[in-house]
Amino acid sequence: MTQQNVSVLGSTGSIGRNTLDVIERNPDRYRISALSANRNVDRLAEQCARFDVGLAVIADPLLEDDLVEALRRLEARADVMSGSAGLNEAAGMTRTDIVMAAIVGAAGLESTFHAARCGKKILLANKESLVIAGEVFVAEANRNEAKILPVDSEHNAIFQALPPQFEDGLEAAGVRKIILTASGGPFREMPADQFHLVTPAQACNHPNWSMGRKISVDSATLMNKGLEVIEARWLFNARPDQIEVLVHPQSIVHSMVAYRDGSVLAQMGTPDMRTPIAHALAWPDRIEAGVDRLNLSQMNDLSFEAPDLERFPCLGLAFEAMKAGASAPATLNAANEVAVDAFLDNRIGFDRIPQLVGSVMERIEVSAVQNLEDVKECDRKARHMAKQWVDQSNG
Ligand code: NAD
Ligand code: MG
Repeated sequence: MTQQNVSVLGSTGSIGRNTLDVIERNPDRYRISALSANRNVDRLAEQCARFDVGLAVIADPLLEDDLVEALRRLEARADVMSGSAGLNEAAGMTRTDIVMAAIVGAAGLESTFHAARCGKKILLANKESLVIAGEVFVAEANRNEAKILPVDSEHNAIFQALPPQFEDGLEAAGVRKIILTASGGPFREMPADQFHLVTPAQACNHPNWSMGRKISVDSATLMNKGLEVIEARWLFNARPDQIEVLVHPQSIVHSMVAYRDGSVLAQMGTPDMRTPIAHALAWPDRIEAGVDRLNLSQMNDLSFEAPDLERFPCLGLAFEAMKAGASAPATLNAANEVAVDAFLDNRIGFDRIPQLVGSVMERIEVSAVQNLEDVKECDRKARHMAKQWVDQSNG
């Protein structure tokens, strides 16, 4: 078997480390060509030594010398680059076959987009890039024959439950609805009048999944599901009315596809990101992922309920942004990133996150998006306004 070369963007994060774990279990199939991190020099250097990596990229240019030094101490041979040039090199280098896009937030847009420009097989964890650049990103991938495989567990589940001909349109494939499941997050049963008391530590303590801090907060507000609705629209070329959300607190059914004839296909598994990562890496093959087997005989209460849009307005805001299209999802995402940062810094309460996002969306008019520059401009504008909102609410 010929080995495939993998670049992991965001290798020090939750998805990045799970990816390295799966790759370590399948050394005859994969080797690592490049790894990247934002600031975690020590972990990045350790990973480079462990996998004998050719290129190490640190996003923060001020840390380049520290990375060189850390690699030297470990006797690792990796070349070192930094900043967006480094990230683009890792995403587009000729030697790389597969790019795991696992940077968090809009910060991942440029490198993920570059992987599309270079026609790579993209394992997409960085949902924000598809949310904000949607049509432009898909068009770039198609133009360069880049394949986008979903790593987000819901979208990976849907991909597994769809027939290959879905690419010709969901209607033609007999699909009636895509049903995204949501755990409901840690505050599924909390009354809304308690939300202002929620601390960052509580919000990051997800009942079923262990994840990075940003996506953990998004899961607690249900903005994560909102972003995923928009992600599904682009991944599966779905109309807004073809996508539904269903709360399923046990996180065993990772999502479903409902067909015209009444069939509903679900993908199940223990909540462990190594399953979708392994699926996307090896597709259409199946490889060992190190995941616990699902024991259905011990599971007697798989339950489903409709989401509560009154207590979790972020989900409704995301549906609105999807329907509005054009720049609206980029505005939604940028405002949310600022809000989550401010919440994690104890500058605004948990209950203020949807207020901030809603207020920025109301104040910024929806505009056309034709290219990456338009996307970045929307992102910049919304971020600026959201930061002002945070300052004013503290002032
Ligand atoms: P994380 O915070 O654990 O890791 C983020 C990674 O990105 C780190 O390696 C970090 O160094 C890097 N990074 C952060 N800011 C950067 C910047 N400005 N420039 C360059 N690199 C930067 O996040 P995560 O939980 O692994 O999530 C990564 C992505 O995957 C997110 O888009 C998230 O929504 C998505 N995702 C995560 C999970 C999960 O279980 N963790 C599940 C589904 C989707
Ligand atoms: Mg998900």
